[in-house]
Amino acid sequence: MVEIISDQAINLNNHESSTMDIEEIIKELDRLHEKNRELEIPEEERTALVKQMGDYANNFIGRLSKVDAFSEKRPTSLSITGKKKSLQEILQIYQTEVAETGINAASGKHFGYIPAGGIFSTAIADFIAAITNPYAGVYYAAPGAAGIENEIIQWLKSVFSFPLTAVGTLTSGGSISAQIALTAARDKHAVKGEKIARSVVYLSEQVHQSVQKALRIIGLEDVIMRLIPLDEHHRMKASALEDQIQKDVEQNLHPFLIVGTAGTTDTGAVDPLDEIADVAGRHKAWLHIDAAYGGFFILTSKKDLFNGIEKADSIIIDPHKGLFISYGLGAVLIKDKNALLHTHAYSGHYMQDAAAEELIRSPANLSPELTRHFRGLRLWLPLQLHGLSPFVACLEEKLLLIQYFRKKLTALGFCVGPEPDLSISYFWYPFDNESNLKNKQLMDAIHHEGDAFLSSSIISGQYVIRIALLSFRTKRESVDDAVAMIERCLKKIK
Ligand SMILES: *Cc1c(COP(=O)(O)O)cnc(C)c1O
Repeated sequence: MVEIISDQAINLNNHESSTMDIEEIIKELDRLHEKNRELEIPEEERTALVKQMGDYANNFIGRLSKVDAFSEKRPTSLSITGKKKSLQEILQIYQTEVAETGINAASGKHFGYIPAGGIFSTAIADFIAAITNPYAGVYYAAPGAAGIENEIIQWLKSVFSFPLTAVGTLTSGGSISAQIALTAARDKHAVKGEKIARSVVYLSEQVHQSVQKALRIIGLEDVIMRLIPLDEHHRMKASALEDQIQKDVEQNLHPFLIVGTAGTTDTGAVDPLDEIADVAGRHKAWLHIDAAYGGFFILTSKKDLFNGIEKADSIIIDPHKGLFISYGLGAVLIKDKNALLHTHAYSGHYMQDAAAEELIRSPANLSPELTRHFRGLRLWLPLQLHGLSPFVACLEEKLLLIQYFRKKLTALGFCVGPEPDLSISYFWYPFDNESNLKNKQLMDAIHHEGDAFLSSSIISGQYVIRIALLSFRTKRESVDDAVAMIERCLKKIK
């Protein structure tokens, strides 16, 4: 494949360029220009392409409520041949091979894992960002683009009552955010060398796997990990955390990091953040709060659940979850500027023109990336265009819809999990025997039907089906459709 592409693209007529005279160079440049000029698409064609793209988007969105949220179909023809295709042809392939395979994450009937959505205004921002292509990693190179990222961090600090002196950065999502925050924790507590094996990290049993993964990536695979048990609402028990830390201190270990969660992935539980913060404060441990899913519910009537989050040393939040931005936008806030800069600020000679500008205005000094997608615009533009209140109303709607969903399921004879903290809950049918097996069969039937998508989990040994509501497109009708489907599938199993 590669050969075909390079063969067509270059073909330098076997000239040794250093021996060419200037006339020959000009002639060759003209010839190459003819071959590559189509990369600068002329205005008339651009207009036509934008129209095709807009038509595609309108058609896709227009049909969303009628198409399945899940398909078991797999793509078969995505290969790169190096040959040209029209945008129409490409969009056709995209539709059948990408849009119509797997989970339709844009659907309001996606209730699996953690749904997102993808508001249209994200796409406008991405389009403008891609066309103008500012170098958003470095303030000197793009004070406007870096400035937008800085303003978002300022705004997030105010949302979570973090001090003005805190720093933060935008990332591709929660996993990278966690990696950045835990690296700062590691370096603040100088966890390296022989100290690693006696350093202790405290996690809830419901911690997201990205935390353990981040610890592994940053060289802390061999720390001691304590899984702290949960109460009946699936929240970490602060008293159990305190007891465990005391035991570890007595054994001369080094408790340095506590990870709490504000909205667990499985059940949406918010750990008792204030109590955990007190424990962390007493033992001078770094408190990291994973608010990737739940964080933005702090803007809603549930805000009291988040008391104490402002005491954390670091938090992560995912606008690509709780603010309905298309995938690819996370954020991390860290109180100790120097802990973050210690690992991430870096300067090469080729960056010397940038060095004079303030260190922390350049996202490149606060994250592993240098060149980066100008991802700030995909949150800044939607917030400017819509204002904040529709986002908050949409989150409130999800809080109410989970109650509606649970009541409908209970009326059908299903058991449901404990009163949810946020917008995630779970259910199972109390079959007389082989409950786990039959609930799994019910899940399989739901996946096979595909009208709405749900995912499963095992909670305290019980096979359960999760309902996670977070798409801005999830409405009462989406829930009604899902309940009708669940009822149809239940009849097949019973
Ligand atoms: C989604 C999620 C993550 C991981 O975030 P990504 O954006 O998928 O990398 C971490 N923690 C929690 C609680 C999450 O819900």
